[in-house]
Amino acid sequence: MFEKIQGHQTITDHLEKEIQSSEVSHAYLFSGIDGIGKKKTAREFAKALLCQDQHDKGCGHCPVCTQIDHENYPDVKIIGPKAGEASIKISQVREMISELSIKPYSGNWRINIIDGAERMTPEAQNSLLKSLEEPLSYNIFILITSHPQTILPTIRSRCQSYHFQPLSIVDMEAIILREAEFDRITVAEAIRASGGSPGMALYLLNNSEIQKERTHYLRELYSLLKGDEIKVFTLAEALSKDKATSQEILEFFIHWFYEINLLLEGHPLPDHGEPNPAHRAYHQLLQNEKNQAIIKTLFEMMATIQYNVNLRLQWEKCFIKIMKIQKG
Ligand SMILES: [Zn+2]
Repeated sequence: MFEKIQGHQTITDHLEKEIQSSEVSHAYLFSGIDGIGKKKTAREFAKALLCQDQHDKGCGHCPVCTQIDHENYPDVKIIGPKAGEASIKISQVREMISELSIKPYSGNWRINIIDGAERMTPEAQNSLLKSLEEPLSYNIFILITSHPQTILPTIRSRCQSYHFQPLSIVDMEAIILREAEFDRITVAEAIRASGGSPGMALYLLNNSEIQKERTHYLRELYSLLKGDEIKVFTLAEALSKDKATSQEILEFFIHWFYEINLLLEGHPLPDHGEPNPAHRAYHQLLQNEKNQAIIKTLFEMMATIQYNVNLRLQWEKCFIKIMKIQKG
């Protein structure tokens, strides 16, 4: 079981024990930064529960495992935001709920995976809550999220939580070099910028433009924090062109200010990475309380942009707030 999962040993050991002792929960919350292996672990967990090979549970080649890998096994349902959409719609959750009472097609379990669970609208979360409160014996829910704090506490409390920690450099290298060939210096840089997420590191390796884009926005935001008010509007305009970019840059900003938070509190960066010049510049500019208020503001923005809002207006509000925080 779980041979395909690199790192996260404590979590996979726990899950394996639960399967072997038949003490599987009805609801799980897998949290941790994007691209770290949460969905992959959920899929391997489903395979281990439903695999037809009695001696090698989660074998990876029986018809069930193969279908789960291709996301077309009827007893494993996966939902997430649809392409181009920022949120999981209530209709998607309702459809999932409507199938909960159907007995599993072959095995003992129906596994319902919600990927990007923080992107469920509050209505969608509320409609899910009832199913979590009165679970049918054969249903298992796995909620996957990079922002567990935006999930309703009433939902969180019904789930067994597993928090996925950033991976070590060794694990990251193993995963990346299995996927493609890159030179070691480029890999090291991508690992550093990814904050322990192999998915993000691969994304950066395959999209050097994204790294440039991030650096650009970081520089613009720095000018704003230093008092250049025009940036409120130029940044908001640039970021409002497309929802996916907004989301991506927003998550990057949150990650960034968390790192600054670590530095301000005298902690090392994840994986003992060295602060780069941008880290040092932000570190000098910001104070701890202000930095935390900025993180809070960015999280509010995260909650807001899940809806069909005027992105430009929301970004303007967000940047004005950040500017006020910095001016104190
Ligand atoms: Zn199998």
